[in-house]
Amino acid sequence: MIYDIIIIGGGPAGLSAGIYASRALKKTLIIEKSVFGGQITQASKVENYPGFGEISGMELGEKMADQAKKLGVENIYGEVTKIEKNKEIFTVTVGQKEYLSKVVIYATGASPRKLQVENEEKFLGSGISYCATCDGAFFKEKTVCVIGGGNTAIDDANYLANLCKKVYLIHRRDSFRGEPVKVSLLKEKENVEFILNATLKSVNGEDKVQSVTLNEQNEEKEIKVDGVFVAVGHVPNTKILENFVPLTPNGYIKTNYELETPVAGFYAAGDVREKQVRQLTTATNDGTIAAIKASEYLNTL
Ligand code: NAP
Repeated sequence: MIYDIIIIGGGPAGLSAGIYASRALKKTLIIEKSVFGGQITQASKVENYPGFGEISGMELGEKMADQAKKLGVENIYGEVTKIEKNKEIFTVTVGQKEYLSKVVIYATGASPRKLQVENEEKFLGSGISYCATCDGAFFKEKTVCVIGGGNTAIDDANYLANLCKKVYLIHRRDSFRGEPVKVSLLKEKENVEFILNATLKSVNGEDKVQSVTLNEQNEEKEIKVDGVFVAVGHVPNTKILENFVPLTPNGYIKTNYELETPVAGFYAAGDVREKQVRQLTTATNDGTIAAIKASEYLNTL
């Protein structure tokens, strides 16, 4: 049995691709490693997805997955360990099984890089966040810190400064990867304090985050915060694609505007591809484009 389209990854990009693929009458399978809905299922509340006002990430993910299933998209759980292409057909390996398809849409996302500090897992989703635009509103009028020195950290600190009483920007060096103009603008904000040449040692608290301990120039320092925003980059889930499609030095998949890669029939969508803005809405946008372009490609075969 040969599928028209196999989608790898059941997050918003993969599920949107599934919805469009099935409505284009393509025989479609989605393979998901852990939770249908992807990263968004970790957000306690989503308030920036048009049409839903306020919804839990888990519920939104379930709704997307249900919609894809009702439209006839097949789905399985499993981790893809190998993708090969012979002539016009892709072979996708999951455990001992092989699935065949004319098109693959790769939408496995990217995982936020963790800091690997004490209590990071304990407060995940309840005081430690990897997405300021998703969770910032929960810290209105509170004190938070942002960890990182890239554009994401600078943008996050700027965004949070408009909501929170106080924002500490904690960076391990005294110069920034983020654009100087952004850094200058952030320095002008009265409620933002920069703590440089400092690394996070631990996040502290009983039931909720109460403070962080820093190593600042060989001395330990504790500051009181209600929330910690980690913005130290992402790690795309592309290990199995090395030597298969071109990747950026950071491991993201390079695509053109139609989300094609140089391998005919292999598309990338969502956070896993090289792009500037990684949000729920841009992921569903990518899934839409990839499925429409993939369907057009299938019609030419
Ligand atoms: P990034 O540019 O890779 O920056 C990551 C930051 O985290 C760096 O400052 C790095 O410190 C720090 N870091 C990494 N690992 C760390 C660790 N274990 N402990 C403490 N600090 C750590 O990542 P990003 O900010 O997410 O940006 C990714 C890409 O998207 C960039 O190309 C960026 O320009 C782009 N972007 C653009 C915009 C925009 O234009 N509006 C917005 C967001 C992102 P070091 O500097 O010391 O290595």
